[in-house]
Amino acid sequence: MRHLRAVLFLTGILSGAALAWGADVNVLLITIDTLRPDRLSCYSPKHVQTPRIDSLAAKGVLFERAFAHEPMTLPSHANILLGMTSLAHGVIDNGISIVPRDIQGLAKILKGGGYATGAFVSAFPLDSRFGLNQGFDLYDDRYPSRPAPGCEAERPAEKTIAAAREWLSARKAKWFCWVHLWDPHAPYAPPEPFASRFRNDPYSGEVAYVDEALGRLLDDVEKIWGSGRTLIIVTADHGESLGEHGEMTHSYFAYNSTIWVPLIIAGPGAKASRVKDYVSHVDILPTVCDLLGLPKPLSAQGDSLRPLLEGKRRKAKPIYFEALDGYINLGAAPLRGIIDSGKKFIDSPIPELYDLETDFDETKNLAPGTDLSAFKKRLAEKMTRDSSSARIQTVRKTDRETRERLQSLGYAAAAVVQTKTSYDARDDLKTLLPLNQKLMTAARLGQDKKLTDGVRLVEEVIKARKDYTRAYSQLSDLYFSLGQKDKWLQTLERGFNANPDNFVMASAYGIALAETGNLDRGIEILGKSLALFDGDPKVWDTLGVAYWKKGDYAKALEHLNAALALAPQDAIINSDLGNFYVAWGLATRAPEHIQKSLPYFQKAIAIDPSLASTHNGLGGALKIIGESDAAVANWEKAAQLDPNYDLPVYNLAVAYLEKGDKARALAYCRKYLSLKGKNITAEEQTDIDLLIRQCKK
Ligand SMILES: [Zn+2]
Repeated sequence: MRHLRAVLFLTGILSGAALAWGADVNVLLITIDTLRPDRLSCYSPKHVQTPRIDSLAAKGVLFERAFAHEPMTLPSHANILLGMTSLAHGVIDNGISIVPRDIQGLAKILKGGGYATGAFVSAFPLDSRFGLNQGFDLYDDRYPSRPAPGCEAERPAEKTIAAAREWLSARKAKWFCWVHLWDPHAPYAPPEPFASRFRNDPYSGEVAYVDEALGRLLDDVEKIWGSGRTLIIVTADHGESLGEHGEMTHSYFAYNSTIWVPLIIAGPGAKASRVKDYVSHVDILPTVCDLLGLPKPLSAQGDSLRPLLEGKRRKAKPIYFEALDGYINLGAAPLRGIIDSGKKFIDSPIPELYDLETDFDETKNLAPGTDLSAFKKRLAEKMTRDSSSARIQTVRKTDRETRERLQSLGYAAAAVVQTKTSYDARDDLKTLLPLNQKLMTAARLGQDKKLTDGVRLVEEVIKARKDYTRAYSQLSDLYFSLGQKDKWLQTLERGFNANPDNFVMASAYGIALAETGNLDRGIEILGKSLALFDGDPKVWDTLGVAYWKKGDYAKALEHLNAALALAPQDAIINSDLGNFYVAWGLATRAPEHIQKSLPYFQKAIAIDPSLASTHNGLGGALKIIGESDAAVANWEKAAQLDPNYDLPVYNLAVAYLEKGDKARALAYCRKYLSLKGKNITAEEQTDIDLLIRQCKK
């Protein structure tokens, strides 16, 4: 009996200790995109003050040597949320990879543990279509469907944080909340007062802005749940090179400027401290499971950081990393490596080895003259161990619309085309750096409106390497901005002819043909692109619209439905379906088709209320079914959303004339004429002349 009591006593102590973390602790995961640790003042006081994150670090554990496995947004977030690297989950690039369905990630585990789960992401690379939404009750990825020219498919920290705060304020029981903030990502344009304060260092200005915005969320968590009831984890998906090693941003190399990340963990059981041990993103998921008393899934590759949080030691494991952007989009050799016992080995045709204990900035390559066989062996063993034999087949989804949006975010995603199996020094990313820098310079020239200088540089790149598919995309964009539509189309044709098996080239060329009215050739090329990859909603949508324009309504419907199945939350595809049903109804005098258009328009507006063409189409449908006032309201909305859009203006002229308001009708006629300018066709001129005569009667 005495013995039993002693056991109970001990158990009581143990469960008491566990309670400090316990099963009812909330979890707040904050990922700040593109954030270098040295831009947080708790890591380095040199550049910018970040008092909010500092105060969190002062209460919790700051990891001085935390690493991402990948310098790219979607793969890196997959590593964090799934607790495994791309060797197991297969997500290797933005836009062409989808998270597999059958992985027990953090959100699924916590949902299974009775947590309410909410995610609030700030940019398209993390769009729900790429699969990180699995396990979240709410996955809030609201940003504009079509970023305005020069703008981003993103939302600023304060909007994302406002959405997260709203969700948190409605929580009654334990929750897991993931907040992703995009602002430090290029281009660096912090809002005021940070823009003025950081005129010479806008990147740091973005970080200062994020720190301030984050303060409101941290205040709420403290106020509503009290300190000690929430496990708070702050990290970055990757850093930013800012010119180090010849790289301006991230994704090309995997030096510490882009894979070293901040990691701060605060919560009820964390002892305030700074930890020098080498840790990595895949350790986060096992840590959360451990602290909350939930079983760690077998697939998890990392280890719990709990011993380090409690001031104890932990056995270090080697850290795998990779940078595959050049391999995927530029025909370069893949870059992979390992960090082990303070040494960093980069396996590429020209290998590199650094002693991180004495040379964390990687200035002295120790590989020449060193026998690298042991490092190669350890990397190979690590890769074999982490690529499970039942390796999950990832669906690679090359999505042209995705690519366009990613491009507006400074990326370009392309299909994986492996033409080479062996690589030499000519394919090393270091050798190819001057070409890549030319593309970056051309992009900057494009932003500065020095478009013809940009064209010259990109042409040089294409001359040097015909398989640099990203160069054709960039060149066609430059011609588009120059207003040289013929050269824009010719460049896409050149890219397609030089790389006929590349889905991105085929789909871009086919879509351009279809959208410029060359329907038959467009359908032919898009058909070829579907043969290369059939998972791109934009290709199906464009084919649907092309068949509709040709009057083949049955085929059009089939293609539009395929597009919708791939991207049910895409406002533009929903809107196209609405407009298609209106056109079909008018052409076949079938009122039931008009009725069918309404839910598509309504859904498109619910997803993105800023699309003018949706309001114009909905106005047309409402007019046909006799709801004239609602029709006028929608056309007015369309004209207001896009002041250069002529169709709603014409519709309003007709509607007001019918209502007997001739003065207003005449004003709309004149506005229509001024919008059309010289581009008016003879038929349109006849129409509008007739309207004007009626207005003047
Ligand atoms: Zn990122």
